[in-house]
Amino acid sequence: MNTTYEAVIGLEIHSELKTDTKMFCASRNDPDEKHPNVNVCPVCLAHPGTLPVINKKAVELVQSVGAALKCTLTEFSKFDRKNYFYPDLPKGYQISQYDLPLCGEGHLEIIPEDTKEKKQIRIERIHLEEDTGRLLHPDAAKESYVDFNRAGVPLMELVTKPDIRSAKEARAFAEELQLILKYLGASDANMEKGQMRVEVNLSLRKVGTEKFGTKVEVKNLNSLRSVEKAVAYEIERQAAVLDDGGKVIQETRGWHDMKQVTFSQREKEEAHDYRYFPEPDLPPMRFSAEYFDTVRAMLPELPAKRRNRLISEYDLSPQDAEVFVIDREMGDYFEQVISELRAWYEADDKEFDASRLIKLTTNYMLSDLRGIIVAKSSSIGDLLIKQEDFAELIKLIAQDKLSSRAAKDVLSEMFGTGADPHEIIKEKNIGQTSDEGEIGTIIDQILIENPKVVEDIKSGKPNATQFLIGKVMAVTRGKANPKIVKELLDKKTG
Ligand code: ADP
Ligand code: MG
Repeated sequence: MNTTYEAVIGLEIHSELKTDTKMFCASRNDPDEKHPNVNVCPVCLAHPGTLPVINKKAVELVQSVGAALKCTLTEFSKFDRKNYFYPDLPKGYQISQYDLPLCGEGHLEIIPEDTKEKKQIRIERIHLEEDTGRLLHPDAAKESYVDFNRAGVPLMELVTKPDIRSAKEARAFAEELQLILKYLGASDANMEKGQMRVEVNLSLRKVGTEKFGTKVEVKNLNSLRSVEKAVAYEIERQAAVLDDGGKVIQETRGWHDMKQVTFSQREKEEAHDYRYFPEPDLPPMRFSAEYFDTVRAMLPELPAKRRNRLISEYDLSPQDAEVFVIDREMGDYFEQVISELRAWYEADDKEFDASRLIKLTTNYMLSDLRGIIVAKSSSIGDLLIKQEDFAELIKLIAQDKLSSRAAKDVLSEMFGTGADPHEIIKEKNIGQTSDEGEIGTIIDQILIENPKVVEDIKSGKPNATQFLIGKVMAVTRGKANPKIVKELLDKKTG
């Protein structure tokens, strides 16, 4: 890696908002629509004489994102026309926002994977605009096609300050924003589906200098991995240009996912090329401070807060907590199971300590349950197991009424049928016994039948006890609590 230069990176991130209808008309906003040109109407097809109407829900979603990112919310905001020609843009202009975006400056805290140190990235602005149609260039056909289902879909654009310094930081920002958008229900933010599109602006400067270098913009990044890879590649590419005494050209580059390289697409246009002017067909928007207070008050618990809370409240490791942050439904399920257990351990005179039950729950959820869910390509949302039944299973394990082997079988049965663990145990006769009298009788019989092994134990042969434990387990068909078996054997042969 080149250590002469420091990377300066700013991101521009577009996200399709999750609304029922489009930004300025009543056509459906359905990203999963398979047939082209179905969700269209005279407004989003730009028939002459039609007029746009602002989608209130889209405005509210952008403001909620702004509130989540501690942005200033703009009391007087408006839409502007951004003029350019392209076949996916039927009006010949895009309705966007120029000088009065819905949200001003804010910030987001990230934790990059490499340094694990918290860092704040400032946000420049967030505005609202409309998406374009989709151009299709089928390999076999000589023609290109256009699908306007996406034309006019509400699109949020967030721009960061050039505060990002590495590939891992760029990725961490995109990842955390993606999570926030999902928590807010603002966007599904699936990068592969183009619901969240990250553009990287990157320049280099000599380490220790202030002035920014010429930046390059990289597009077509359709996964978090590509964001990270493209930044790493572009840093090396620009460093090589500068090392050779060359100059970086200001341009837009694409990311070639197969070749893992960036390539030149076009030289960058300037804002004045778009001849921005206030959209005459839409009224400007005014919002009150009280309304903004409500927007802020309505925010759900956000990923950062949940992360900290899960760690402090349940003493989870950061890795385990992260699974419950990223998979929010899984996290909710975990907390519901714990709350079922809480009633029990609080009433039960502290016989079972909370931390042991929490650890058992975490382990059984993150390894066993998650393993089954993945294997069956199911999801926690489709889980048949009721939280109270999962809690019952944990109790049985904690009380040593179920061996860990049998617990796995019971869990798998519960997953398939949603049945109560007690019923499964009764039906399959797989409960674990810790009854010392019962186990003792069996051990006595086995000792009589194996005098030679008893001799071996007395002369200190290490595997002899293990052999007898195996015998006991065979006789009880695995139902004896191995801990008790070992204790009794040691006592009786010692
Ligand atoms: P443009 O006018 O080319 O769109 P902007 O000033 O709007 O540029 O910035 C777009 C993005 O590029 C922002 O995220 C900003 O932080 C980032 N940026 C601006 N200047 C630089 C630079 N010299 N190097 C890297 N990123 C930059
Ligand atoms: Mg710009």
